[in-house]
Amino acid sequence: MRVIFWLVEFLNNKGFATYSFKRTSVFCYFKESVMINRLSLVLFSFALFLPSDGWGQVTNEVMVSVPYKSKEYVGQPLAWDGKEVVLFRRDGRITQLPAKDIKNLEVVEDHYKPFNRDEMVAKLRKEFGGRYQVSPTKNFVVVHPPGSARKWAQPFQDLYYRFGVYFKSRGVELEEPPVPLVAIVLKTRNEYDRFIKDYQPGMEYSAGYYSSRSNRIITYDHSNQAKWRSSEDTLVHEATHQTAYNTGIHRRFASPPRWATEGLAQLFEAKGINNSRHYGDLSDRVNAQALRELMKLYQKEKVAGAVQQLVRSDEMFRTDLSKAYAVSWGVSLFLAENYPKKYVAYLAHDGDREAFRPHSEKARAKDFAKFFGVNFNNFDARMKTFFADLSKRQKK
Ligand SMILES: [Zn+2]
Repeated sequence: MRVIFWLVEFLNNKGFATYSFKRTSVFCYFKESVMINRLSLVLFSFALFLPSDGWGQVTNEVMVSVPYKSKEYVGQPLAWDGKEVVLFRRDGRITQLPAKDIKNLEVVEDHYKPFNRDEMVAKLRKEFGGRYQVSPTKNFVVVHPPGSARKWAQPFQDLYYRFGVYFKSRGVELEEPPVPLVAIVLKTRNEYDRFIKDYQPGMEYSAGYYSSRSNRIITYDHSNQAKWRSSEDTLVHEATHQTAYNTGIHRRFASPPRWATEGLAQLFEAKGINNSRHYGDLSDRVNAQALRELMKLYQKEKVAGAVQQLVRSDEMFRTDLSKAYAVSWGVSLFLAENYPKKYVAYLAHDGDREAFRPHSEKARAKDFAKFFGVNFNNFDARMKTFFADLSKRQKK
C-alpha cells in the first residue's frame, strides 16, 4: 500500500488545563506537555483514503495496530515523525509509540471505530476495579465512588445539554463527540495526589483537570469539604473544556488561543451562563472572582493593550498568569454580551481550523479582526466602559 507524507510544523503547545486552589482564587494553569513537543511531524494518510481537500486535515480514518512491548495498540494514526507514530486510540486517548516504518503497520479497520458506551464502561471497570462504580449517561462515562449515579454522573450530562443550548441559541450547532467522554472522580485527595503524580506530575495545587491528551477529566470527591462551592466550579470549568474540545468549539491539537479556551471555561462557571433558564440577569452571568481580579487591573491601569497581546499569543499565560486569566474572562464576557452571535461564530470558526498546523500570531490577529475589527484602542475603550458600568451595577 502506498503511503503519502506531508511535512508539518507542529506547534509545541499541547498541554493540560488544570484547576488550582493556590491562593484563594481559582486558576487553571497550563503545563507544557512533552508530547509531540517541538517535533516536525509528518502527517500521513493511506493512499486509499486520501482526503481530496489538501493536506493537514487527516480525513482518512483507517485504524492500525502498533505492536509495542508485547502489547498491540489500536487506533487511527494522526502523525508520524520518522521515529514515532501518534495514535488516536479507540477510547479517545492520544498515544505516542515508537514506529520506525509505518508501512509495516497493520491496517485492522478501514475506518476509525471508537469505543461505544458499553465498551468504554467495560474498559473503565477493568481499569478501576471494584472500589469504584462506573455510570454511563448519554455522552459521558463517569467513574465515581459507589453511590448514586444521579449525584455523580448526571451533572456532567446536564452541563453538556446546557452548553449545547447556549451555543444553539446563538446560532451554532454542536458536533457529536467522537467518543464517550470520560470523567473520573476519585474518593479522596490522597488518592488524587497519588494518581496525578503518576499521570501528570507537577499538579500539586490542582483540584481537577482536563487533559487534552487523555481526553479525561480527573478530580476527587470534595463534597465534605468547606470549599464545595469552589469544587463545583472546578467541575464546571473542566467539563466546559472537555465538552468544548469534543463538540467542535475547540479542536484538540489545533492550539486554540488560550484566551478563548480559558475565557469560555470561566464564563461557564457563572450560573447565569451554565444555567441561564433559571438565572437570567446579567449579574448572574458574571464570574465574581474574575470580575474582582479584572477591576483590580483596571485600577492599576494594566488592561490597555492586554487584549491585543492575548489575541496574538499565549505568552501572558507564562509571564503573568492571573492577569491572563482575568483579561481572558473579561474579553470573553464583553464579546458574549455585546456580540453574542459573533462570539460563538468566532469560536466555531477557530474550532474548524486544521489540527497539527501552526497558527501564527499574524493569523490569530487576522481571525480576530475578521469578527471584531482591527482597532484595539477602540476595543479597549469600549471594554473598559462596559466593565465600569457592570462593576457599578454589581455593587448596587
Ligand atoms: Zn481552564
